[in-house]
Amino acid sequence: MRLSKTFIKTLREAPKDEVARNGALLSRAGYIHKELAGIYDYLPLGVSVIEKIKNIIREELNAIGCEEVQMSALQNPELWEATGRFSDQEVDIWFKTELASGGTLGLAPTHEEPMTNMLKTYISSYKDLPLYVYQFQTKFRNELRAKSGVMRGREFLMKDLYSFHTSEDDLDIFYEKVEKTYARIFNRLGIGDSTFKTFASGGIFSKFSHEYQTILPVGEDTIYYNADKSLVFNKEVFTDEVLAEFNANANDFTEVKAAEVGNIFKLKHKYSKPLNLKYTSESNQEQYVYMGCYGIGVSRLMGVIAEKFADEKGLVWPEEIAPFKYYLVGIGEKGIAEAEKLYKGHENEILFDDREARPGEKFADAELIGIPYRVVISDKTLAEGKVELTSRRDGESKLVDLKELFV
Ligand code: ATP
Ligand code: MG
Repeated sequence: MRLSKTFIKTLREAPKDEVARNGALLSRAGYIHKELAGIYDYLPLGVSVIEKIKNIIREELNAIGCEEVQMSALQNPELWEATGRFSDQEVDIWFKTELASGGTLGLAPTHEEPMTNMLKTYISSYKDLPLYVYQFQTKFRNELRAKSGVMRGREFLMKDLYSFHTSEDDLDIFYEKVEKTYARIFNRLGIGDSTFKTFASGGIFSKFSHEYQTILPVGEDTIYYNADKSLVFNKEVFTDEVLAEFNANANDFTEVKAAEVGNIFKLKHKYSKPLNLKYTSESNQEQYVYMGCYGIGVSRLMGVIAEKFADEKGLVWPEEIAPFKYYLVGIGEKGIAEAEKLYKGHENEILFDDREARPGEKFADAELIGIPYRVVISDKTLAEGKVELTSRRDGESKLVDLKELFV
């Protein structure tokens, strides 16, 4: 991408009402545009980061046999009435809308009900199971407070996976597979060493559900971890009773702030029963399908990763999800001509700052935008037949051969 050709620009100021650092930096660096509190547009750089996050998740889920779909965001109230979740008392974040022809529709805050209902068309026998179906979908939630930038949207992108099984054992086996897959996903996203599976409340038939929490000072949640971080609890379950159950002592735990980036639930029959999702077993009996659900906050992740690595100069993306690997600057006539040559054939890896601007201005934008490596070609570097490569993460520069760049 050429900076001279894109409509986006870095901005000196963030939107006035943007109180979150991720929102401010992502706006200033040209990744997002704020419409309203908790409501954002994604610009080319933002779309690129989101797509990279999605592709990592997609690759890992496909590797364990999951199938991707895309469901509607407009919801049939009848399905949600069957589970008692259309009422604003039960679910207090609904956006609802009216059909011109009469009647109310919901804007999906999540998809358990329509997913369960959809699978009724395709599941009838034990031979149809297990199934693992997921999507990346826009969710709508009328959140009371939306002050955390893209970390808490009123419209946001979630990956939601649902699994369907003949037995609880089969659900348990798949649940463990997803745990391993989630660990791989968070590693690839560059936050593996600060993201933990926690015990949380909200288990449906067991005491706990599990959340994935990333340690982050501006996170909205509080977690407690032990010395080797093998036991991590959300605040709501960090009680004497629970600690006793784990043979643990409160004094051995450290309290930190964290952001929830994902969660996993064993739903069992919670949705299959009210929505009547059944299969015929090998012994010809009608049984309810066992279910699990597994979420990841895709747009929240972009905010969490932005917050996690940013410094006083701007964003710092991990290589795997950076919109580009290199930020290219040519200085002087020869430097610019060489930069043009280097850019050709590497358009997907290079953000080429070919604007008519001072090098200092370009360097500042390179830092704000957070591309992992800055490549500078100038008379000075060319005299040695090299380019200057600077790592955004540690600011270290070195001269390297051109051909070393794209190996
Ligand atoms: P929270 O406690 O943060 O409100 P939740 O328990 O409501 O989260 P889920 O309904 O389980 O979250 O959604 C799955 C994932 O979607 C969460 O783990 C989180 O990463 C993400 N998520 C939830 N709400 C939002 C939101 N308003 N904006 C962005 N991401 C969100
Ligand atoms: Mg919530």
